[in-house]
Amino acid sequence: MKASCIPYRLDRFNSALMVTHIWKLLSSKESLWVKWVHMYKLNGRNFWDIPLRGNMSWSWRKILQLRPIIREFVWCNVGNGLSTSLWFDKWCVAGPLYNHVSSRDVFRSGLTLSSHVNDIVRDGVWDWPRELLDKYPILDGCYTHLSNECDRLEWRLHDGTVKHFSVSQVWSSIRPRGEKVPWFDMIWFALNIPRHAFNMWLIINHKLKTQDRVSVWDVSNAIGSTCSLCETTPDSHEHLFFICPFSNAVWSHMKSKAGLDRVSHDIYAIVDHIGGNASRKSTCIVIAKLVVAASAYFIWQERNWRLFKKTKRSTKQVIDCISSSVRLKLLSCGFKRTLDGVRYARISLMDDGESGMDKEEIWVSSKSSKITDNDSDSEKIEELNLEDPIRTKGVNETKGENTPSENVSHV
Ligand SMILES: [Zn+2]
Repeated sequence: MKASCIPYRLDRFNSALMVTHIWKLLSSKESLWVKWVHMYKLNGRNFWDIPLRGNMSWSWRKILQLRPIIREFVWCNVGNGLSTSLWFDKWCVAGPLYNHVSSRDVFRSGLTLSSHVNDIVRDGVWDWPRELLDKYPILDGCYTHLSNECDRLEWRLHDGTVKHFSVSQVWSSIRPRGEKVPWFDMIWFALNIPRHAFNMWLIINHKLKTQDRVSVWDVSNAIGSTCSLCETTPDSHEHLFFICPFSNAVWSHMKSKAGLDRVSHDIYAIVDHIGGNASRKSTCIVIAKLVVAASAYFIWQERNWRLFKKTKRSTKQVIDCISSSVRLKLLSCGFKRTLDGVRYARISLMDDGESGMDKEEIWVSSKSSKITDNDSDSEKIEELNLEDPIRTKGVNETKGENTPSENVSHV
């Protein structure tokens, strides 16, 4: 992600919030602000027709500048046509019609810029002025059925879907959409642990403040010059995950839990290895992603604790933290009871006999929808070379506050 994307996205999100004011204005909500704007800012003109001028207030200018961004989404569903502007509201596919018809021709035809849809319907029959139809044939297709209901403002997507207006809907409609990065599913999935996922996002984007990056501006060398884990070389993303002897020892233990024994001890190689299969919801891939993210998170935490808190944990203690974290997460999931599921869960839940967990304890009764076998999934896992050949029938997360429920299909 480009560095400039975040402020740009914040700007767009702020725009989404401001669109609520426009929506209130257009739907004539009962509020003092709406009445004030109609009286002093619009003064009888249509909101879409107000020109930008240099002497406008900053906030009013910002609101008006949002018009081209949201114009295509704001529709008028014509009922009786009494409040829908004939020229400025988008009530037909060709609309808004002021894009096609000049003001001069509007006035020549006997209509005005403040005309409403209802003004050209006489006795239930559409009656476009002949001179306008001759000059603008596009008007010939601009008709809609009138009813006795009031006109209604709608937020309509490009495919014609009408959505309930909300800030989240506006944001979804106007937010910038870049290409999906290949590692997206490796980090962002419903069962992730948010702080681990964010840490992984920083790692993949080389955003952690490692010594190789900090040394550029840390002239006083306040944070030291060597990796706090091995105390031999300056740390970097590549060194910490997982070339450093300390993190290497941790990962050497954890990688078998993730089914990644054959993969290089380089986190970027690991991300690439899981790669295209990361979007799959199979049990072993979900566990692999959790283990990788938890390992990176606790190694980075240990590095910082040693550097700034002057405390040390052994590799075993860090391994225990990683295992506990993943185990707790998996305990919120429901594994289906199958022979393979039991075996895989025992391994994946780090149940190596030292946890003291009862075998029954690792199971959470799953009330999830039925999950069926899927041979193609099995083939994919074998292609992935994830070490553990044992497969579960699937895992489902039980309802939790931070992690939305997601069905996890078969391996
Ligand atoms: Zn090191």
